[in-house]
Amino acid sequence: MNTKIVILGSTGSVGRQTAEVAADLGVEVIALAASRDIKTMETQARRFKPRFVTMSDERAAAELKIQLADTDIDVRCGRESLLESASQPDADIIFNSIGQSAGLEPTLSALSAGKRLALANKESIVIAGELVMRTAKESGGEIIPVDSEHSAIYQCLAAGRRADVSRLLLTASGGPFYGMKPNQLEAITPAQALAHPTWKMGQKITIDSATLMNKGFEVIEAMHLFGVAPDSIEVLIHRESIIHSMVEYTDNAVIAQLSLPDMRLCAQYAMTAPERVPGLMQRLDLTEIVSLTFAKPDYESFPLLRLAYDCAKEGGVLPAVLNAADEVAVSQFLDGYIGFGDISRIVKRVVAKIPNKSAPSLSELKAASDEAVLEAAALCKSLH
Ligand code: MG
Repeated sequence: MNTKIVILGSTGSVGRQTAEVAADLGVEVIALAASRDIKTMETQARRFKPRFVTMSDERAAAELKIQLADTDIDVRCGRESLLESASQPDADIIFNSIGQSAGLEPTLSALSAGKRLALANKESIVIAGELVMRTAKESGGEIIPVDSEHSAIYQCLAAGRRADVSRLLLTASGGPFYGMKPNQLEAITPAQALAHPTWKMGQKITIDSATLMNKGFEVIEAMHLFGVAPDSIEVLIHRESIIHSMVEYTDNAVIAQLSLPDMRLCAQYAMTAPERVPGLMQRLDLTEIVSLTFAKPDYESFPLLRLAYDCAKEGGVLPAVLNAADEVAVSQFLDGYIGFGDISRIVKRVVAKIPNKSAPSLSELKAASDEAVLEAAALCKSLH
């Protein structure tokens, strides 16, 4: 394939799978970026021979430089180099699979440069949806979602006109605690929450899947990406993770995208869209799956999903506040300082406390996020 790509966050779960797909399709990788996983980065750098690689961690960059001394790959460090990777003039597609809020600046940088952005970093849209979509529009940039649900919707939208869409049906596996009542959730340990039934993912997103915060973020993401009001986005529990989402049109026809749960398909489609090519994914055998089931989500056990809808409707800085508070609460839970049930209580309190502001600038979004981090940290500390 005659395509040149950049992979940001290449050593994380989605980044590694994107690299696997790139190697399989023979796509040229011209730059890589990650935070501190030197071992994976060295392997990727030797495999793809990019012009340069960026490690955001200074020590990791220095060590990698020594490891790659026998190659002519330039090893760099820091924000400037990361943003330069995100806007490489001859790159056809920028893959952004950086974790959490650190992905926002590279997203804006790629879109400002008018690039096609394959976006796995949903936080970019959750934090700054209006700004991200406006930047894409103004600079001629384009977003191809890599999040499986949004990739599915993107594919389903090929079946009709945007103006004829009546609803998006966003599927959710329900996570490992599906069916549990609020009191049963209190004693959940990090190890239990990290065991996701159908998807293999990074730690933060796995916890977010267990609280359904991830699905809430995806509602906000879908609202911005596809220009649909939150009330027209319905979350549907679908335990088998075979239907990755659906689009309902005004004539009540529903178009679905089905495949085995495998992020490599989402990465590959973003690499080849609108074309399709054979790849690494297994064929779906529906007779083996036998049945596909659906249910409504339990908003009482998983209150963060409802809170995300509220923040989506309110807009302004609230989605950014929601994201920042959740980042703190999840990391405190993983470190064993707070309980599973505390995550939603803390996030709710932070969202209620921080005043909203409409049409925020990037710096206002950052200020609100910083405030949310401090608030959430203080609330967590009071529980230690
Ligand atoms: Mg998803």
